[in-house]
Amino acid sequence: MPGRRPRWILRIAEERMDILFQLADKEFSKHPERSHRYVELARRISKKYNLRIPRKWKRRFCKSCYKFLKPGYNCRIRLSRGKIHYQCLECGRIMRFPYIREKKLKRRNKIEYHTSKKRADEKVPINNNITDRESRSQ
Ligand SMILES: [Zn+2]
Repeated sequence: MPGRRPRWILRIAEERMDILFQLADKEFSKHPERSHRYVELARRISKKYNLRIPRKWKRRFCKSCYKFLKPGYNCRIRLSRGKIHYQCLECGRIMRFPYIREKKLKRRNKIEYHTSKKRADEKVPINNNITDRESRSQ
């Protein structure tokens, strides 16, 4: 199949993108222009191998001018109406992301906490029975 590449090549490509973003993060304070260049290289890998930018770096570059974004330096983050606003201070573009994933995770944790608590409550009488039986047989 044309365009299909072996798994190991894709894995290396993913690793390279990760390394490029790590470098971009490291170099930003001294050489921001290098960081922007690293984003460009990572995007090139992503296009060439038809891979997504790693999730943890997805919001770390501008979707309009493709510059590397460092929150607190050239990126402003605000919350409003259930969305996170990332403003690129290089070109002024605002990107909005819903934080459903964070909300869902919170809700799931809550449910798990309650069910695990319930399970723990149910276990108590069973354990008591076992210890009762053990003490009786002795
Ligand atoms: Zn921008």
